[in-house]
Amino acid sequence: MSTPTIRQSYERISIYSPPVETWRIDLSDNTNLWGTPPAASAAIRSFDPVLASKYPQPYSTELRARLADYVGVSPDMIVVGCGSDDIIDSAMRAFAEPGDLICMSDPTFSMAPVFAKMNGLERAPIPLREDLTADVDRLATAKARITYLCSPDNPTGRAVSFSAAEEIVGNAPGLVIVDAAYAEFGGESMTALAEGGRAVVTRTMSKAFGLAGLRIGYGIASPEIVIAIEKARGPYKVNVVAEAAAIAALQNDLPWIRTRVGDVVANRDRFSLALRELGYDPIPSEANFVLVPVKSCRFLVERLNRAGMSVRGFPSLSGIGDALRITIGPWEMMQECLDVIGAAR
Ligand code: PMP
Repeated sequence: MSTPTIRQSYERISIYSPPVETWRIDLSDNTNLWGTPPAASAAIRSFDPVLASKYPQPYSTELRARLADYVGVSPDMIVVGCGSDDIIDSAMRAFAEPGDLICMSDPTFSMAPVFAKMNGLERAPIPLREDLTADVDRLATAKARITYLCSPDNPTGRAVSFSAAEEIVGNAPGLVIVDAAYAEFGGESMTALAEGGRAVVTRTMSKAFGLAGLRIGYGIASPEIVIAIEKARGPYKVNVVAEAAAIAALQNDLPWIRTRVGDVVANRDRFSLALRELGYDPIPSEANFVLVPVKSCRFLVERLNRAGMSVRGFPSLSGIGDALRITIGPWEMMQECLDVIGAAR
């Protein structure tokens, strides 16, 4: 029997394969390096296993209400998913047909072009401006069915202003996905963009909230956009344990999260300054990581790996060249990283 034929455009997609080793210090994936917050941890420990035999609510009614409170909108303006990945992917599917154009910065979040391919979209990559921020004018006038804007951006850490994002939303002909996964760490709030009914602002509990393994993301948008994304997403995407932990975190962990965000911001500035003293020129960041242009990312990644540490190396980033993306965590971790980078000079 012959092999079934896979969808043709999927031949251009490679399986996402980040390194799977466990590191003594992992500064590679922009998660919360202080760990899982206390109330969420307690909710996981005391979760009644009997409830695991039941389905969750199909569209997570209670979690949506808590998230709505957190960001200051009504619950019908929130859509939740299995990570914000799920919201980005579903939004592309809901608002474009295969063959349509999607525009986005190059570089930007590495999964955005993958989701574009998965949905059969043609990507128009827009180079960054000289200061490494998104080229707002070109994004606004690219005439794409979907515009993807990430702010603060991954991997640069650069953010655009609310008014710049508003200009894109006001001019782009189709849906604008504003990816604000790192919103807690800096940049202006993009939430109000959701009100005009032309944008979805995506957020996550994987970064500041320390719940990456539970896969909870959300979008903020008009009720019409929310329903369209839910249609593309399908029901039951947030599981019962994740929902219980997320609700506990939103109820009781906000002071803990604010403290950790404050630590990240302080350590980010201190780490960037120390890198400058070592002769590097880290890109000013509004996120929980710093991108550092380097001569050879392979060389430094190897040195750090040998010391039991992992960072994300980006060889030949468009407009930047080789660079390391380093997640900001407790100072002892940052100091160890600095020691290895300093010794490698
Ligand atoms: N957007 C950006 C910019 C990210 O960096 C990430 C994770 N690395 C995501 C979205 C997806 O996060 P999650 O699916 O865990 O919410």
